[in-house]
This record gives sequence, C-alpha cells and structure tokens, in this order.
Amino acid sequence: MEFFAFTDEEKVFKGKVRRCARERIKPLAQKYGETDDVPQEIVDVMIEGGLFRILFPKEYGGDGVSAVKLCIAREELAQVSLIADVTLAMQGLGGYPVVLAGTQEQKKKYLPKLVRGDLLSTYALTEPAAGSDVAGIVATGVKKGNQYVLNGKKRFISNGFRADMGVTFVKTKEDMGNKGISAFIYENGVEGLRVSRRLKLMALHDIVELEFKNCRLPAENLLGEENDGFKIAMRTLDLLRMSVGAASIGTAQAALDLSIEFSSQRRAFGQPISNYQAISFKLAEMATEIDAARLLVYRAADLKDKGIERITKESSMAKYYATEMAGRVVDKAVQIHGALGVTCGMDVERLFREARLPRVYEGTTEIQKLVIANMILKEAKMTEKKQL
Ligand SMILES: Cc1cc2nc3c(=O)[nH]c(=O)nc-3n(C[C@H](O)[C@H](O)[C@H](O)COP(=O)(O)OP(=O)(O)OC[C@H]3O[C@@H](n4cnc5c(N)ncnc54)[C@H](O)[C@@H]3O)c2cc1C
Repeated sequence: MEFFAFTDEEKVFKGKVRRCARERIKPLAQKYGETDDVPQEIVDVMIEGGLFRILFPKEYGGDGVSAVKLCIAREELAQVSLIADVTLAMQGLGGYPVVLAGTQEQKKKYLPKLVRGDLLSTYALTEPAAGSDVAGIVATGVKKGNQYVLNGKKRFISNGFRADMGVTFVKTKEDMGNKGISAFIYENGVEGLRVSRRLKLMALHDIVELEFKNCRLPAENLLGEENDGFKIAMRTLDLLRMSVGAASIGTAQAALDLSIEFSSQRRAFGQPISNYQAISFKLAEMATEIDAARLLVYRAADLKDKGIERITKESSMAKYYATEMAGRVVDKAVQIHGALGVTCGMDVERLFREARLPRVYEGTTEIQKLVIANMILKEAKMTEKKQL
C-alpha cells in the first residue's frame, strides 16, 4: 500500500531494498542467528545495495539525504534483520551530525568513507546517570592547547563495538545545562578510550559502554561550535526519530504476515482459526494499526524531505505511536500462535523481544509525549495570542 504517493524513484528504491532484504539479507540473518556481532557479510550486502548512500549528500558520493528512503529501508530491513536495520540507523546517527555541522575537512575526511561503508559509525550520548535527561551528562571535554581531553563514561551505545568511529557529546562548560555540551568525532582505537561489551539485551544488539580516560582528541575533532552539541544531537534525532517508527512498522508487518499464514493453516474445532472472529478481528486490528503508523511515519518523513525546518512534533508522534503499536501488534501475533508463540526459536517470539527495544531508545515513549504536549500547548498559546 502506498502513502503520500511515493515518487517513481522511491517506488523503484522500495522494490530494490525489498529484494535486497528478502533475497540476500534474510538468509544471512538466519545463518548468523542471534549474535550480537555485526557480520561483515551483512554489511557488504548493504554496501552493494547502496543503502548507506541515502544518508549522505551527493557531493560526498551519496544519493542525497532522504528521510522517506530511510524509512522505506528501515521498514524493509527490520522485517528480516535487526542487525541490518540498526547498522543503517547508526550510520545515520553517527554520520548525520557530520553532514549537519562538519567543517569541509571533516566532511571530506569522513563522509565518502561512510557512504562506501569503509567506516561504520555510532552515536554516544547516553551515560550511566543521564539518559532522558541529556542536560545531566557529566562526561567532560577540557581544552588543553590544540587538544580536548575527554573523561567520562557512555552507556548503551549501539554498534559501538563494531563501529570504526562515532560522535560523542560531553560537557565543555559547567553549570550551563544543555548549553554547555559539545560534540566530538572520535575514532575507535584512540588512546584513552576503552570499549567494553558488558551489556546483553533481550534482543540481539551490539551494545557497549565507552570509557574516556584522559582521551586526547585533536581540536579539529570538535564538531560545530563549542557548546553547540545539544542542538546537533537534537537536529540529528529530527531525521532519525521517525525512522525508528518505520523500523517498528517493519517488525509489526512481519508479525502480521506470520499471523495471517499461521491462522489460515492452524485448525481448531474443525476449521482454520482465522475463521473465528476472535482471531480475524485481531488481524484486522493489527493491519489497521500498522497503516495508521505508516501515515504518521511517512507524513513526518515527507515533511522533512520537503525542507520543513522543525518537524519535532510530527517526528515524536510517529515514533511514539509506531513503536507502541508494534508492541500491541506483536503481542496479538504471539497470542494467535498459541504455545508456539512463546517458544524460543520461533520468529514471532523473537519479534516480540525485538519490538520492545524501540520504545526505549532515541527518547522513551514518555519523553515523546512530553515533547508532543509541549508543542501543542505552545501552539495553543500562539493561536490564543493571534486571536487577541
Ligand atoms: C536498544 C537500545 C539502544 C540504544 N542505543 C543508544 C545509542 O546508540 N546511543 C545512545 O547514546 N544511547 C542509546 N541508548 C540509550 C537510550 O537512548 C536511553 O536508554 C533512553 O534515552 C532512556 O534513558 P535511560 O535508560 O537512562 O532511562 P531514564 O532516563 O532513567 O528513564 C527511566 C524511565 O523514566 C521515564 N522518565 C524519565 N524522565 C521522565 C520525565 N521527565 N517524565 C516522565 N517520565 C520520565 C522514562 O521514560 C523511563 O520510563 C539505547 C538504548 C537501548 C535500549
């Protein structure tokens, strides 16, 4: 089904990604199973499929940044491989800050390699004591001569083990809340950076802790102006946030497809269980909720591609609704599968665990609601003022 009349180019892209995902990535995802590693074979197929190109401007070898294509790709990838989906997202999260705020030198140094997949990236914002409350981060960057010395810990950093580089956010000015945060590019392997993989999530994920201990980065690694890091972090999320919703749509669609197939074949009391309204109504609810989420996600992506400056509310609505929707849909899918639905090794059981993660990362559901509420209250006040 189509929304917002995808352009011809987007339609061709969707077909291409779908073939790449189903014919090439899915068999690899099955071969590697639930590993937390990012298999190079999967990355290679993503490179060949040109998937990283949709995140970067043409002048650096990309196809031009496209939120709609990013959502299309995440929807298709999440149906077959969480690793592939997260790898694409992290390439955007680590690469887009460079697109937004990088100097010519930084762009020339990193973007062509990110487009080609010669470098994989990550985005390191969260700390042990600061997740939703970004202003509460305590890692520091102190300027000494022509270097910045970084100290502090980052936690829950996706693809952090496999990544070759990342963008991190540290305090460069005390007592200034989010106005005292700066963004830095770092490379894995730099002296003073320890990457450890002590965390194990409920679904497969290369997730790490980073510890910067007197880690000296050249001043050229500062991204944007000093103390502009919060803005860079948030503007990056404006592109990526609605695409989390797209990945959740992929997860939910995969659960619906499995449920349609299973309920048409599984018989109880002499007939396929899909003949019973209790089951068919579930399928109807699942399909309707998935389409509702698609409308929100592609609306936000479409606005972004049209160059609308701030799409914070639309992006948060898309992320909030689609990720919660996937939780409800996958839960119904598990119920339709009966005991097989809760059996380890069943696709639907894996999807149930995978659907849980996006409700937490890139802003929890509660934080999305805070953002939406703030925006609608502000809009209401402005309308009131205009009417006076
Ligand atoms: C799979 C996964 C991948 C991740 N990848 C990355 C990554 O690559 N890079 C990165 O930097 N981080 C990453 N994270 C971290 C993620 O962004 C944080 O976990 C998230 O922002 C929430 O922070 P927290 O876990 O510290 O929870 P907290 O902020 O401590 O929140 C705990 C609970 O309190 C609620 N809460 C907090 N404040 C409020 C409020 N004001 N009003 C109402 N409720 C509130 C939250 O919604 C949540 O339910 C990842 C997390 C996961 C699970």
